[in-house]
Amino acid sequence: MLTNDHRADLTVQRVRHPLKFRLLQVKQVHALTPHLIRVTFTGDDLHDFVSASFDDHIKVFFPEPGADRPALPEAGPDGPVFPAGQPRPTARDFTPRRFDREARELDIEFAMHEAGPAATWAAQAKVGQYLGVGGPRGSLVIPTGFDWHLLIGDDTALPAIARRLEELPAGTRAAAVIEVADPSARIEFSTRAELHLVWCYRNETGYRGEPLLQAVREIYLPEDGEGYVWAAGESATMRAVRYHLCTERGVDKSRIRAASYWKQGAVAVHENLDD
Ligand SMILES: Cc1cc2nc3c(=O)[nH]c(=O)nc-3n(C[C@H](O)[C@H](O)[C@H](O)COP(=O)(O)OP(=O)(O)OC[C@H]3O[C@@H](n4cnc5c(N)ncnc54)[C@H](O)[C@@H]3O)c2cc1C
Repeated sequence: MLTNDHRADLTVQRVRHPLKFRLLQVKQVHALTPHLIRVTFTGDDLHDFVSASFDDHIKVFFPEPGADRPALPEAGPDGPVFPAGQPRPTARDFTPRRFDREARELDIEFAMHEAGPAATWAAQAKVGQYLGVGGPRGSLVIPTGFDWHLLIGDDTALPAIARRLEELPAGTRAAAVIEVADPSARIEFSTRAELHLVWCYRNETGYRGEPLLQAVREIYLPEDGEGYVWAAGESATMRAVRYHLCTERGVDKSRIRAASYWKQGAVAVHENLDD
C-alpha cells in the first residue's frame, strides 16, 4: 500500500484570482428537484473565468426591481468600487457548480427557500434574463489525494459536494452526509469515488440541523490514513458539526474546512469557521 511519503503533497493551498465582474445571460433553467434549480448562464465575459476549487464562491448580482440588468461595481485595486451615492446592488454568494470555457457556460444551482432575493429570482428565472457575477477572488485548493474525504452539508452545499464528488479520483474513499427537507430533494451524484452516502431529512424531526448533526455523530471515521473534512450549511449547525468533529472525534483543525453558508434569520452571511 502507498504511504503518504510516496504521494502528492497534501498541503491545502490558497490561490488568488484577479477580481472581475461579468454580465451573464440565462441560457437554460432546469429544476433538478422541487427544491433545487440549476441555471446555466452564458456570455463572452466568461472567456477568462477561473474557478480552481469546488469550495469557490462567486458574488451573484441581481437586477433591482424594474431593471433588466444588475448594476455591477468596477474592480478596483482593493476590491469592488461601487458608484457613489447609489444603494449597493443586491448580491449573494453562490458556488460555480460547472464551468465550460469553450462553450462559455457557467452553472449555478439555487436552493429554494421561503424568501430572499436570490431564491425569488431563481424561482422566476427565464432564458434571456441578465445577472452579474463577481469573482471568484480566490480559491482554497484542497488536494484530492487524501486517503479519505468527508463532505457534510445542507441544500446550499449540494452544488459544492456534487462538484467535489465529480473530481475525486477513482477509488478514493469518500463519505457524504447531507440534510435536505425530504427524499424529494435528493439528487444523483456522478463520481468515481467509493462513496458512502447518508441522506437525512429535517421534515422527519421538524428540527433543522438536528438530523445532520446526529448523522455526523454516527458517521464512521477511518482511523488509518490522512483524511479531510469539508462542511458547509447553516451557521449554528456548522458550528456544532465542527465542534463535535474537532473535540469529540479528534479531527485536527488543519484537516477541516467548515463554513456558514447562511444563517437562520440573517441575510447574506458567509463565515469561515476557525478558532
Ligand atoms: C461560499 C458560499 C457558497 C454558497 N453556494 C450556494 C449554492 O451554490 N447554492 C445555494 O443555494 N446557496 C449557496 N449559498 C448560500 C446562499 O448564499 C444563501 O442561502 C443566501 O442567503 C441566499 O440568498 P437569498 O436572497 O435567497 O436569501 P437572504 O435574503 O440571504 O435571506 C432571507 C432569509 O432566508 C433565510 N435563508 C437563506 N438561505 C436559506 C436556505 N437555504 N434555507 C432556508 N432559509 C434560508 C435567511 O436566514 C433569511 O432569514 C452559498 C453561500 C456561501 C457563503
